[in-house]
Amino acid sequence: MKNRALYGLPEEVLFCKKCVISNQRPASIPEFKHKKNREDAKYMQIDKDGVCDACKHAEEKKIIDWDKREGELLKLLEKYRKNDGSYDCLVPGSGGKDSIFQSHILKYKYGMNPLTCTWPPILYTDYGYQNFKNWIDIGGFDNVSFRPNGRVQKLLTKLSIENLLHPFQTFILGQKNLAPKIAKQYEIDLVFYGENEAEYGNPLADNSNSLRDKSYYTMNNFNDMWIAGLPVQELIEKYSISKQDLMPYLPIASDELNSTNIQIHYLGYYLKWVPQEAYYYAVENSGFKARPFRSQGTYGKYQSIDDKIDDLHWYTTYIKFGLGRASYDASQEIRNNHIDREEAIALVNKFDGEFPEKYFKETMEYLDISEEDFHRLCNEFRSPHLWKFMDGEWKLRKTVK
Ligand SMILES: [Zn+2]
Repeated sequence: MKNRALYGLPEEVLFCKKCVISNQRPASIPEFKHKKNREDAKYMQIDKDGVCDACKHAEEKKIIDWDKREGELLKLLEKYRKNDGSYDCLVPGSGGKDSIFQSHILKYKYGMNPLTCTWPPILYTDYGYQNFKNWIDIGGFDNVSFRPNGRVQKLLTKLSIENLLHPFQTFILGQKNLAPKIAKQYEIDLVFYGENEAEYGNPLADNSNSLRDKSYYTMNNFNDMWIAGLPVQELIEKYSISKQDLMPYLPIASDELNSTNIQIHYLGYYLKWVPQEAYYYAVENSGFKARPFRSQGTYGKYQSIDDKIDDLHWYTTYIKFGLGRASYDASQEIRNNHIDREEAIALVNKFDGEFPEKYFKETMEYLDISEEDFHRLCNEFRSPHLWKFMDGEWKLRKTVK
């Protein structure tokens, strides 16, 4: 008998033969539609030759005429450039390498006047906060930061762990939905995100456009929205939260957006994007510093390091999809020719799923969840087709080979 697959995951686990990602890797869905059973979720496509969409896209990137794309960017920038001293583009970010790279290159190479905006991490690491400050102070940018109601954020984060095993949902919602609202308020018509989510596993066709799909950042009807795995009405009725409390997490209303000329573009469509190079660029131009120690669950030190909760987020992807942080990092590095598949497999075997104990206690205390409850929740979210309990411990049924 087949083991049951939760969340609409493909029952048979297949690994890409070029990288180390599997067909269990979730494609992005609009976060405000995320339900416990992950209704309508899509997962990484692996074709009949055993190659995943992200690897195919990486191959396509190698033959893109980047000079031509830069020409397209220059045209776009000319259209939006303002010379009256007002901001002409908006770059959201928290001071990680990618937001530094984007804002810096737009301002100092292409002569734009960007405003930056920030939805801060839930629990800043000290070096993450320093990187944020350096971005603004050394990099030299104006910044609008939006700090949400801490009591509500804590409750929603706790509920998203309990209902979705998704510690990072409030951050993702806030961060993704903030920029269009700030753009409207400051009358900035051009917003830049970094890389297209599609590069890492959405259907290939999503990748051929520089514009961000509106379904990811607009709301048609408040009552259709879900946060922390619950319909907004239920949150309001059961948890004494108000509609106002939820608004920061929700996207801009479509009517409101349609009354503006705001366009959201991926800079990664126009400029060749290599995470390692963005890192060196950030070090050089804004004093960016890597984490002073290896991130648990992987071998890297410079990606997603500003929120203490991020480490837990990657651990939960390992529980739900059998893919931890090392699987994601190593796959990306194979595609950028930094390591080969054999090295990647060794790194995955060594680090994937390592428990992020460094900030665990502090995070649980902040959220008021007991450590036992967190581990119990993890076990409830393990899909039987991925996990088996053997000799006193949980083991993945199938690992990359
Ligand atoms: Zn692949």
